[in-house]
Amino acid sequence: MTEQPLLSVRTLKKHYPIRQGILSRQVGAAKAVDGISFDIYRGETVGLVGESGCGKSTAATSIVRLEDPTDGEVVFNGGGREDKERNSDGTHPNDVTKFDKQELKAFRRDVQMVFQDPSSSFDPRMSVGSSVAEMLLVHGMTDKHRRRAIVEDLLERVGLSAEDYDRYPHEFSGGQKQRIALARALVLNPELLVADEPVSALDVSVQAEILSLISDLQAEFGLSLLLISHDMSVIRKVCDRVAVMYLGEIVEIGDTEAVFTNPQHPYTEALLSSIPTPDPRTRAEGIELTGTVPDPVNPPSGCRFHTRCHRVVQPEGLDVEQSVWRGLIDLRYRVKGGQIDVETLRENALAAESGDGDGVSDEAVTAEIRTEFDLPDRLSDPEADRALSEALDKLVDGDIEDAAELLDSTFSTPCEETTPDYTDHGDGHQSACIRHSDEIASAELAADDD
Ligand code: ADP
Ligand code: MG
Repeated sequence: MTEQPLLSVRTLKKHYPIRQGILSRQVGAAKAVDGISFDIYRGETVGLVGESGCGKSTAATSIVRLEDPTDGEVVFNGGGREDKERNSDGTHPNDVTKFDKQELKAFRRDVQMVFQDPSSSFDPRMSVGSSVAEMLLVHGMTDKHRRRAIVEDLLERVGLSAEDYDRYPHEFSGGQKQRIALARALVLNPELLVADEPVSALDVSVQAEILSLISDLQAEFGLSLLLISHDMSVIRKVCDRVAVMYLGEIVEIGDTEAVFTNPQHPYTEALLSSIPTPDPRTRAEGIELTGTVPDPVNPPSGCRFHTRCHRVVQPEGLDVEQSVWRGLIDLRYRVKGGQIDVETLRENALAAESGDGDGVSDEAVTAEIRTEFDLPDRLSDPEADRALSEALDKLVDGDIEDAAELLDSTFSTPCEETTPDYTDHGDGHQSACIRHSDEIASAELAADDD
């Protein structure tokens, strides 16, 4: 596509300050959105997907300026605004983040949002028709009959009837309310619709209906659509392209088909493997997305996904089974976080030993730790095993700090040291994983040859 995008998001950031104390000094920031970039072209549907808490809603509200972004640029070339030259100071005249009140009002006509919960988005004391018609009034349509005619027509186009105009929100089901929300979003003839989890609150049985309605309306109205969902199967049904978000960043972006059939980021693989399939045997093997998205106040260094990644890279010189490596990294972070309770482990070991009551040996406890992290009795790499044994001994002795230090220095991953750049996989398919960087890729190839 060579035409100008309708919307260009560039290194957009939204950091929420964390304040403390009576002076409410800022002591940190939740980096909910931390430098995302993508485009939406006219008539295109772009999906934004990721687990709960990864920053999707914050991205949406920052783009439409329901919240003021911390940094970055959102260039909107719709609403009769031609793409203009940049100002002499480098800013863009169509940068939404710099719009004044008047420009924002026009922008809010051209860009509409639909939210997850259709119930909370209607005034229960107002007929749904008036709720929709109000948008027209606010934007200057004074002719009451004309407003009603437009809204009645629109209600029919979203699958309801003109007579529904005078009914009240409580008379409708969740799915019907979402239809009305769509009518309200479309009544001003916007160019871009941002839908944040539009079907997540609905019965599974009506989700597909609403999704196909969104798809039909998008084609009928020539809309561009940003569809946000935590659900990969929802994305696949409607999106032309998809951006995968993790902890405030986009880790992979590309045509939906390319991303689904040939995922390049381990996080995307993990999300795909969690889609329920009728036949669990067809699911990608050995990938399990456990735990939750880390705290955006202190995101992991390097690649933010490395604390959960099944493909986390081993340091040069180490070559253990990948599942063992994952276990070693998990152990290391748990020790560092003071989250290993040696006493409980001792009791477990005692119970397992059908104990004679004399307590258990330290060896039994370290064995228990290895079991808990799926580590073998001996690592295949003798040097690594020596370090692990020593660290476990220190841990059991209560010498947590030294244990943590030893694990840190022995079992560190390049993934935590390097912030991955985007690698191009063709046709705009990009991912940010250091495994695709030339250096790592050739090292892995060499390791495979051994
Ligand atoms: P998603 O929509 O992907 O579930 P959100 O955008 O709602 O994610 O949230 C992203 C992160 O930002 C979360 O860690 C959340 O706790 C945090 N967050 C969201 N809103 C605020 C806020 N107003 N103040 C502080 N932190 C926030
Ligand atoms: Mg959300």
